[in-house]
Amino acid sequence: MSTEKSSPIGLHRVVSPKGVLPQAAEVVDPHAPLTDDEVRISVERLNLDAASFRQLYEAHDGDGDAVRQAVLEIVGRRGKMQNPVTGSGGMLIGTVDAVGPDSPLGLKPGQPVATLVSLTLTPLVITDELRQWDGQSEQVPCQGHAILFARSIAAVLPEDMPSDMSLAVMDVCGAPAMTARLVEQLTASTGTAPSVVVLGAAGKSGSLSIAAARAAGASRTVGVVRDNTEADALNSAGIADTTAVADATDAVAVSTIVHEKLGAPADLTVVCVDAPGCEHGAILATRDGGAVIFFSMATSFSQAALGAEGLAADVHMVIGNGYTPNHAEYALDLLRRERGIRELFTQRLLSESA
Ligand code: NAP
Repeated sequence: MSTEKSSPIGLHRVVSPKGVLPQAAEVVDPHAPLTDDEVRISVERLNLDAASFRQLYEAHDGDGDAVRQAVLEIVGRRGKMQNPVTGSGGMLIGTVDAVGPDSPLGLKPGQPVATLVSLTLTPLVITDELRQWDGQSEQVPCQGHAILFARSIAAVLPEDMPSDMSLAVMDVCGAPAMTARLVEQLTASTGTAPSVVVLGAAGKSGSLSIAAARAAGASRTVGVVRDNTEADALNSAGIADTTAVADATDAVAVSTIVHEKLGAPADLTVVCVDAPGCEHGAILATRDGGAVIFFSMATSFSQAALGAEGLAADVHMVIGNGYTPNHAEYALDLLRRERGIRELFTQRLLSESA
C-alpha cells in the first residue's frame, strides 16, 4: 500500500491534464499502488453504456473483433473506459480484492460488488485481452482490476438474481429513481398526478422508468417504442398504460402520437433511447410548464437548449443524473416486484448473449 497522500475524489491518479477531475482527464493511472483510502476490485464483467456500445458497434460496422480492439485501445491509452465520442462509460461487477485501512466504503475482501460510479472515471486495467467477449453486446466478460476512490459508491450484489441482470439494472438505476422523484415533485407542485411519456420504453432504463412513474402515482403512462416487436414485448410486460410505436428521432411523429394517446402533451417525458436526435420530439411532446428528463447519454445540450428556444417551449429540462440516493435498491426492488420488467431484461440479456 502506498503511503502517498491520496485525494478522496481520485486527483492523485490523474495523469493528464493535471489538476482536472478523473472524469475530465484524458488519462488516469490504474497501475499505481493502492492508497490507504482506496479499494481494488478484481473485475469480472463490464457493462458498456448503451450509447457508447452503439457508437462503437456502428463505427465498426458490427465487426466484433474491431469493437473489442477499440475497447482495448481506449482502456490501454486512457486507463479507463471512456468512449471519446460519446464521453460515456458504463459500470462493472467484480470481487473486492483489497481494501485500504482508511476506506470509508465499508467493503470487505471477497464481497461480490457492482461499482455505481461510472467507468468514465474508474481506473481500469484489462489483463485478458477480452478474449471471452465477441464484441457483439454491451456486457463484456473481463479480467483485470479497477480502483475505487474514497468518494465512490459500490453495492454488494444481491443474492436473489443473476449477476448479469444486477449489472444491467444497476447501470441504469438512476433513471427510475429520478423519474419517481419528478412524478412526486410535479404532483406536489400542481396538485394533480402527471401524465408520463417514456421514449425507448422497452429498453432497460425505459422499462424501469415507466414502472417507476406508475409506482410513484402517474395518472397515465405512455411507452413509445421503435417497432411492433418492442410494442408486443412492452404490452406483455404490462408496465405501461398505453404503448405507441414511433421513431423517437422523428419529432413530429413523437408529438403526434403522444397527442393521440393522451389528448394533450405530456406533463413529464423521459428520454431513454440510446441513439442521438430525440431532443426535439421530447420537447414537442411535453406541455409548457412540464418537464423532460434527458437520461440518454446521446443527448445533445445544444439540440435540447436551442430546440426548446426554437419551439418557444417553456419546459423544465433535467439532465439524468446517474446518482440519486438509494437508486440501486429502488431499481432492484422494482425488478423484484414487476415480473414484466424481469421478462424484458431476461429477453434482452438472452438476445445479447445469443
Ligand atoms: P437500451 O436498453 O438499449 O434501451 C434503448 C431503447 O431505445 C431500445 O429499446 C432501443 O430499441 C430503443 N431505440 C433506439 N433507437 C430508437 C428510435 N429511433 N426510436 C425509438 N426507440 C429507439 O438502453 P439503456 O441501457 O436503457 O440506455 C438508454 C440510454 O441511457 C443510453 O443513451 C445510455 O447511454 C443512457 N444511460 C445514462 C445514464 C445516466 O447516468 N444518465 C446511465 C446509464 C445509461 P432497439 O433495442 O430496438 O435498438
